[in-house]
Amino acid sequence: MAFDNGLPTKKPDTRPPSPAPRIAFSTLGCKLNLYETDALATRFQDAGYELVPSDEPADVYVVNSCTVTNRADRKSRNLLNRAERRVSNAYAAGTPSDQHGLVVLTGCYVDSHKDALESDSHTLVVPNEHKHAIFDLVEAHRHGEVIVPTGSVFDFPVPSRVFHTRTMIKVQDGCDNYCTFCIIPFVRGRAISRPTVEVIEAVREAVDGGARELVLTGVNMSRYRDGNVRFSGLVQRVLDVDGDFRLRISSLEPDQLDDLFMDLFDHPKMSPHLHLCAQSASERILLAMRRQYTFSEYRAVAEKLRARKPNFNLTTDIIVGFPGETDEEFGETLRAVDELEFGHVHTFPYSERDGTRAVRMPGRIPERIRTERAAEVRELSTTVKKRYRRRFIGTTQRLLVERVEENEDRLVLRGFGEHYVPIRVEYSPTTASVPRPPAQNEFVDVQIAGIGDGTDPVLQAQLSSSH
Ligand code: SF4
Repeated sequence: MAFDNGLPTKKPDTRPPSPAPRIAFSTLGCKLNLYETDALATRFQDAGYELVPSDEPADVYVVNSCTVTNRADRKSRNLLNRAERRVSNAYAAGTPSDQHGLVVLTGCYVDSHKDALESDSHTLVVPNEHKHAIFDLVEAHRHGEVIVPTGSVFDFPVPSRVFHTRTMIKVQDGCDNYCTFCIIPFVRGRAISRPTVEVIEAVREAVDGGARELVLTGVNMSRYRDGNVRFSGLVQRVLDVDGDFRLRISSLEPDQLDDLFMDLFDHPKMSPHLHLCAQSASERILLAMRRQYTFSEYRAVAEKLRARKPNFNLTTDIIVGFPGETDEEFGETLRAVDELEFGHVHTFPYSERDGTRAVRMPGRIPERIRTERAAEVRELSTTVKKRYRRRFIGTTQRLLVERVEENEDRLVLRGFGEHYVPIRVEYSPTTASVPRPPAQNEFVDVQIAGIGDGTDPVLQAQLSSSH
C-alpha cells in the first residue's frame, strides 16, 4: 500500500469508465406527449444518458402512451410488450441483474387502465400527474431507492432540439369540457394553466438557446387563464419577447377566441396557421358531442382568419360515424371540408371510449360505415389540400430548415414555411447564388416554383436571390 503525505494513495482506477446509461423513448399521440418526451429526453441527456432508438438495447425504455382511440390503446400495449420483451430477453440471456433494463410506462393509457397496471421490479407505471418526475423516479429505481414524486405537471425542462427543430412550450394541461366522445378529461384531469411568468421564462430560455420556431401546446389552450391573462394575452406577451423567432399554436378549440387573438395574426412573428378542431359540420351532431360552438360560429372564425390572411392555413380534426350521424349530416361535413379548403384534415372514425357519454347514445353506426366515411373524407381532403397548396406557387415563403440531406452533387433542404406547409429546396454549390448552403434551424427566403406528387404534396422551391 503506497502512502502520500502519510495518507494511503488510492490505486489508480484502471477499470474502463462505465458506459453512459442508454435510454430509448417511444411516443404516441398528441403534440403535448411529443413535447413531454422531448423535455424528458433533454433531462436524461443533460444527466449523461445516451439516447438510443427504441429498437436497440437500452438500460431504460420509456413508453409515452396514448388512449384517445381503441387503436391508440392497441399501439400502446404493443409498445409496452415490445419494451418488456427486450428487458426479459436481457434477463434470459443472463445479463447481470443491474443491467436488465427498466421499462417506464407513462401517458394517458396508464390513467385509463390504472387498475390493470402496476409497477414491478422491471416496469415503472407512472401516471400523467407524475410524468414530469420520471428522471428522479428512474434514478431512484436504479439506485434501489423509492421516492414520492413532487412538483407540478409543468415541471419539465425546456426541450433542447433533440428530436425536433421547433421547440414546444407547454402552457396548459387538462380539460373541463367533457365532450361526449372524449376520454381526455378523465386521463389528463381538470384544466390547469401554467403561470404566465413561467411561460415567458421558458420562451426566453428557448430563444436564447437558439430556437427559431416556438409551438405553444396544451390540451385546451383557448381556456387558458392566469389571473386576468387569457390565451390572447399570453400569446401577446410571448410575441413581445425579443428575438428572431416565429410562433405557432399547436391545436385549439374554436370557442373563446376573442378579437385580440384575431389581431395577433398581423404580428410578423405569428405563423398564419391554426389547427382548429371542428369535429363535424352538422349542428345537431355538434350538440350531441357537447361541443362549445355551433358550426356557423366555426365558419365565421375561419372566414375572419381568411379575410385577414387569404392563404391562412386552417387544419382540423373530423370525427365521422358519431352515433346517430345520418348520410345528410355526413354530407354537411364533406361540403364544409371542400368549402373551407382545409390545409389538412385529421380524420377519425368514431371510437367508443369507456366512461364517455357517447358510448350510451343510441344510433350506433356500423364500423364498416365509419371506415367508409373516413375514407371518403380522407380522399376529399387530399384533393382539397393540393388545391390549397397550389395557391403558394409563385409566392415567397420563409423556410425554417429542419433537415439537410446529401443527394449526389447537391443538398436537399427540407422544412416548413410560415404557413406550416412542407417545402423542399435543392441547393447546388455550382449554381447557387450563395456560396454557403443554409444550415439546419436557419430561416431562408425561398421562391415557390411548383408542387410535388402524392397525398402530402411538398412545395418545390428555389432559394430567393435575396437569401
Ligand atoms: S375540448 Fe373536448 S375534445 Fe378537446 S380535450 Fe376537451 S373534452 Fe376532449
